[in-house]
Amino acid sequence: MASQIAAGEVIDRPASVVRELLDNSIDAGSDRIVIKIEEGGKRHIRVKDNGVGMSKDDILLSIESHATSKINSVSDLFAIKTLGFRGEALPSIAAVSRIEITSRREDQLAGYRLQVAGGRLKSIDEIGSPTGTMVEVRDLFYNTPARRKFLRGVKTETDHIVDTLSRIVLPFTHIQLRLDGSGKTLLNLPATESILNRFSDLIGRNVAVSMMDTFKEMDELKLRAYLAPPDLSRTKRDRIFIYVNKRSIRDKLITRAVMEGYGQRMMRGRYPHVIIFMEIDPSLLDVNVHPTKQEIRFHNNRLVYQTLVSTIESTLRKRFHSILDLGQLKSGDEKEERVQGMVIAEPVREYSGTEQRKPVDYKIELLKETPLVKEVPQIIGQLKNTYIICQLMDGLLMIDQHAAHERIVYENLKNSYKSSKIERQSFLIPHKMELSMKDGRIIQKRLDQLARLGLEIDHFGGSTFLLRSVPPILINMEWEKFLLDLVPVLENEGDLSGEKALDRLLTIMACHGAIRAGQRLSREEMIQLLNQLEELDLPTHCPHGRPISKKFSYYEIERMFKRVI
Ligand code: ADP
Ligand code: MG
Repeated sequence: MASQIAAGEVIDRPASVVRELLDNSIDAGSDRIVIKIEEGGKRHIRVKDNGVGMSKDDILLSIESHATSKINSVSDLFAIKTLGFRGEALPSIAAVSRIEITSRREDQLAGYRLQVAGGRLKSIDEIGSPTGTMVEVRDLFYNTPARRKFLRGVKTETDHIVDTLSRIVLPFTHIQLRLDGSGKTLLNLPATESILNRFSDLIGRNVAVSMMDTFKEMDELKLRAYLAPPDLSRTKRDRIFIYVNKRSIRDKLITRAVMEGYGQRMMRGRYPHVIIFMEIDPSLLDVNVHPTKQEIRFHNNRLVYQTLVSTIESTLRKRFHSILDLGQLKSGDEKEERVQGMVIAEPVREYSGTEQRKPVDYKIELLKETPLVKEVPQIIGQLKNTYIICQLMDGLLMIDQHAAHERIVYENLKNSYKSSKIERQSFLIPHKMELSMKDGRIIQKRLDQLARLGLEIDHFGGSTFLLRSVPPILINMEWEKFLLDLVPVLENEGDLSGEKALDRLLTIMACHGAIRAGQRLSREEMIQLLNQLEELDLPTHCPHGRPISKKFSYYEIERMFKRVI
């Protein structure tokens, strides 16, 4: 009875059985795991691995309470490197189900099968078996009807299993895993080298390809985060994946840090898709906080929190200011092929049964860097002679050509002004302009200052002025209109070399110099515009503060067409 009560802490539904068995298979160094469930795992769960296996004695010991092969000394307990360490899972499962463990070690000829029901040993027999372990759990809670009553329907329990499995197996990309349930394959994960490929198999390509990754390394902490753009948010926080030394955990502190990192980019009540991997020296952690081992305690909370917030914040700031960075994707992995802008996972790794495997040791190892590659948007065309429409790897991009070009002209003028290198292009025949008396007077007082901006204007007499040269980027603008807009600024601002006044002047120059809405662009002109935009640092908005572009992710588009929910 006591064992059944204790079991309740570890095992509360089929998904927790799957979690414990999967943890064990991973700890055993498996790289191929096949799981089968019936009736949402309530009737039958089978986990088969190709790990190191167990001897007859190991099998018998495995169902003894607090027998674990993973901890040899007290000091091990303070530096846990495996997923399991409490030696509680198998005895807990055995206490509340009919369990059968079949296993063979590679160095032994025979395998063994043990049968236990309700915590009582029924048999242990020699049996032919491949190397590795198969655990079958039938009729969960058959002997604790009260608890069985609390189990939910097949669909809910299945969903829990899929979710649990997905979370656990995400970082173990070298493991090939399949989950079958009620005659269907629910998950089929090939081995891969890339986290994003695995994420793509689990959650979907659209999200995976939109993610950017960031990496931070410090003495006590290594952090790698994969962040989806804020517009792919969800109403639930179920896509925040947190790992510490590859162990999937639930942690309020880290979730809070993620939300703070996204800050105002994320609407209230929405949550991002995020994967956080932290590697911390196991001696600076306490993982033995909760029987399910899904909670941990950091010795240095503040460091973890602050590192996360600042890394996420600065990554998002850098990436989502630049419109052309919206669709970047990892690559550099030779086995990956890009087809039509998508990452194709490499083929399933062949299982080689002869390979010598040791139980895995989750020593602090650097996760593989996945360099980012900038994506060049593919131009589809021009809408209403006003918007450039582009295809991105993860969505559709609309660019307001005037706002975009305005920004380009503005940056160009500003940079050359700051480096005192404003170029001038002279007109063969100067432009003659008639102004009102009042405007004439205002302009006349500012001729020197305008000259410094590359606008060379001479007073011809009366209220007539001659425009002799302009910065080349402005060569096509309408001069009278431009001067009319310029006059109020000249009138109101005292010193034109001040930052604010200069900004206003440059803004007006940019606005007049930029391509207009409604102007037809050739393909080459559009390409040129995109290239120029890409060279700038912050082109999300035009100098007036209007947005330059709007992206529609495929996720949004597919939602619009009800292909996804
Ligand atoms: P823990 O994982 O905390 O050590 P468990 O009750 O989950 O405790 O498992 C008990 C022991 O049984 C493990 O320490 C391990 O030695 C052995 N074991 C369980 N599952 C497997 C498996 N799939 N392959 C090899 N050994 C296993
Ligand atoms: Mg275990």
